[in-house]
Amino acid sequence: MDSYQKLIAHFKEYRLLESIGAIAGWDQHTYMPPKGANHRAAQMGYLAKLGHEKLTSPRIGELLGELAPPSPPAPLPQGERGGSLPPHPQPLSPGGEKGDEAVNVREIRRAYERAVKVPGTLVEEIAKTTSQAQNVWAEARKQNDFPSFAPWLEKIVALKREEAAAVGYKDSPYDALLDEYEPGATAAEITRVFAELRADLVPLVGAIAESGKRPRKDILTREFAVDRQHIFGQAAAAAIGFDFQAGRLDTTVHPFCSGIGPGDCRLTTRYHPREFNQGFWGILHEAGHGIYEQGLDPEHFGTPCGSFASLGIHESQSRLWENQVGRGRPFWEHFFPRLKQTFPGTLDDVTLDDFLFAANKVEKSFIRVEADEATYNMHIILRFDMEQALMTGDLKPSDVPGAWSERFKAMLDQTPPDDTQGCLQDIHWSMGGLGYFPTYTLGNLYAAQFIQQARKDLGDLDADFRIGRFERLKGWLNEKVHRPGQRYRAGELCQRVTGSALSHKPLIAYLRGKYEALYNI
Ligand code: ZN
Repeated sequence: MDSYQKLIAHFKEYRLLESIGAIAGWDQHTYMPPKGANHRAAQMGYLAKLGHEKLTSPRIGELLGELAPPSPPAPLPQGERGGSLPPHPQPLSPGGEKGDEAVNVREIRRAYERAVKVPGTLVEEIAKTTSQAQNVWAEARKQNDFPSFAPWLEKIVALKREEAAAVGYKDSPYDALLDEYEPGATAAEITRVFAELRADLVPLVGAIAESGKRPRKDILTREFAVDRQHIFGQAAAAAIGFDFQAGRLDTTVHPFCSGIGPGDCRLTTRYHPREFNQGFWGILHEAGHGIYEQGLDPEHFGTPCGSFASLGIHESQSRLWENQVGRGRPFWEHFFPRLKQTFPGTLDDVTLDDFLFAANKVEKSFIRVEADEATYNMHIILRFDMEQALMTGDLKPSDVPGAWSERFKAMLDQTPPDDTQGCLQDIHWSMGGLGYFPTYTLGNLYAAQFIQQARKDLGDLDADFRIGRFERLKGWLNEKVHRPGQRYRAGELCQRVTGSALSHKPLIAYLRGKYEALYNI
């Protein structure tokens, strides 16, 4: 074996450990009996320790050293999504076997360097602090008691600053946090795209609020038997291309999708007998994640060429099927008669138009996870803005509630009645997940840009959807987005697939098209 093969063999062992952890984690959240919790925590802790040892092993450092000269200070062009550079400033991979080798070495080096730069004592401190902070946060949220959480947020922000300093960054400490979820993205570029998005979203949401048109409220909150929701949702997930010979769908409390490895991807959802939207669009969302996992190249499992590109790209795949496809008229022209058959009598008085309007209702709300497609991104822009201010020190953790209300009012013209419905609603900060939120809106942006291009490349996709056919779109996504794995950074993938840098325009065009028709604006 040469150095490269040894490196790959070593890294694959790390990824195998990770995938064993994933199956244990899936079980923990689906079928594990409650009394198994302590033993499972011990198993997961041990696996995490083994994984960390594998990834930070000096052996990887030696092998990387044998493979290439020390990396230059800036191995990747910054701002490749910014549009200020030529379309392909530095081809990351010319393709082919040599190209794949270069990609794998580059990405393993990135993961390794990030892991070894952060001192073990800091990793431990973050793990300890966030594990306690999550309990404090849960109680604070219940009691609407921000002051009890404030000192913990302060500790977490300080630790994340330390982490950013250890990882290193060029312009903003926030870039170092983003790098964990969205490699290559920069705060400066996201700030620019989000500002453009916000400028168009605010008037759109305002016009919808003023239109006076409202969908019927009762349609999606009728009695939908849970076993039938399961059958219907599973059939829809299979129709859009999720392979149930290589995956499953089970129930859990907080839905997720876990790609265990080739031939095995686990979807989860939750059902409520009177909330059809939670189960159904939740399944489409997770199935979109699952189709991405199933579309990765099994030959490259355990290496960067066979791994997902970024969380933003992952989220683009879930939102594309959930929203762009799954809330559209063509999709429901096929599925609505089947929905009526599945729930006999439940929707007899409901027309397709009524149903579509209910499924695409826009309503200002305080809670992110309950937000619709139009207002959702405002919730994210607010969080992104606050996280940056926290990291630069412009915002003190104790001032978060006031700053939250101010920003919320500026964008959504409402003030949250309390912190439980404001800055205490999400678990992310208590887990130390600063830098995670923007990937949700990046997902919406990429989804709109990808499907706009698919429609250009493939012609009339709506005609496919009307007869319940989704193979052409799925095949296009497999080839253009899934198979490349980590050969390209998210921004470069977007440029290659769509011919343009990331832009707010496709998402705005899609939202305007939809809501102008529904709300007569
Ligand atoms: Zn998702």
